[in-house]
Amino acid sequence: MKVRIHRGAKQIGGNCIEVAAQEKRIVLDVGRPLEAAADEIVPLPDVAGLAAADDPDLLGLFISHGHQDHWGLVEQVSPNVPIYIGKGAADILRAAARIYSKAGVDITPAGHLLHRELLEVGPFTITPFLNDHNAFDTYSLLIEADGRRLFYSADLQGHGPKRAIFEEMLRKPPPQVDVMLMEGTNVTADPAPAPGISEEDLRADLARTVRETKGMVLATYSSQSIDRMCSMYSAARRTGHTLVVDLLTARMAIATGRETVPKPGWEQFLVYVPYFLRRQIREDESFDLLPDKAHRIFPEALPERRGELLMTFRMSMARDLERADCLEGACAVWSQWPGYLERANSKPYKDFLAKHAIPLKVHHASGHAYVDDLKKLAEAVAPERLVPIHSFAANRFADHFANVVLHDDGEWWEV
Ligand SMILES: [Zn+2]
Ligand SMILES: [Zn+2]
Repeated sequence: MKVRIHRGAKQIGGNCIEVAAQEKRIVLDVGRPLEAAADEIVPLPDVAGLAAADDPDLLGLFISHGHQDHWGLVEQVSPNVPIYIGKGAADILRAAARIYSKAGVDITPAGHLLHRELLEVGPFTITPFLNDHNAFDTYSLLIEADGRRLFYSADLQGHGPKRAIFEEMLRKPPPQVDVMLMEGTNVTADPAPAPGISEEDLRADLARTVRETKGMVLATYSSQSIDRMCSMYSAARRTGHTLVVDLLTARMAIATGRETVPKPGWEQFLVYVPYFLRRQIREDESFDLLPDKAHRIFPEALPERRGELLMTFRMSMARDLERADCLEGACAVWSQWPGYLERANSKPYKDFLAKHAIPLKVHHASGHAYVDDLKKLAEAVAPERLVPIHSFAANRFADHFANVVLHDDGEWWEV
């Protein structure tokens, strides 16, 4: 079995890996680089048959999860390439696409990834392992062919709400792994990085901020992070507040199909439909997207109820809130990677906060394993060779893990 990392050997985002055995090939992820501009067309990695009409040797594309840095180029992939992805992940992406979100796509999978259920594709046997990660329904993949075993961690963490699944991986790791491609988002130039906070710590921090805020709490987090939305709901419940989500987040929550995920109709949970979406839905007559009126909150109610609302905030709602005149006493909570705040495209957000004198607090827990958890994973899987992926500090892996071997993007190597 041979492997070629097309992108990801030395960067976070845009993962794409090609695996070959007996003249047949599969592809793991087809991500969009994080640094690509919104309207930039990024060409597909150079995989024979990925864009072409038909190549009988390319047997499938396996998408580990619903983050764009793992699937973002999929619309350029030939419809003849069978796609495998978790059902929950595919449903969420489809729901987002229906709400006109760029973070969504309508994929028709040839098969679904299921926890520890084998898939046979030509000479390859693929076993997905469910991960604790901040995208719903994320999988690591064990690939077996020619008597060799490659384990691709994809993205994972050990401190989130599904940490039990990470602990199961440590207890019952994929056996006899020859090579592990392991993500290292939190491996950095710092030789002894301190672990960050857990999702549980974050819930407590959030609740404290909600309690201390007189006006509305404006929380910005990834609509795809169902875990984070659950943490927001938990903070609202603890403080007697109501969580307001935007329509996109509400549709994604419904798409999970999980009884444990808060959704329209639950107590202390309301949906706000931004003006631009109301207009779009009217134009398209897609009224089935709207929740029951009793489960929504309308702009007129915002000023009076502002002291009891934990409001999911997107910049596309900024004008709505200004018009509703409900921002007095508000506090903003940034609950995604703080690095985004340093980027030029966060200027409108920062300008909006400055204009209304809204203080900003960052409450975030990484969706990726801290180094101590990665060490536990590396020790449990105990691969013959460990190859870094999804990291800006691949050259620092050897400081923390045994048997590290570096491979560049574009290079073929044997498992
Ligand atoms: Zn990623
Ligand atoms: Zn991810």
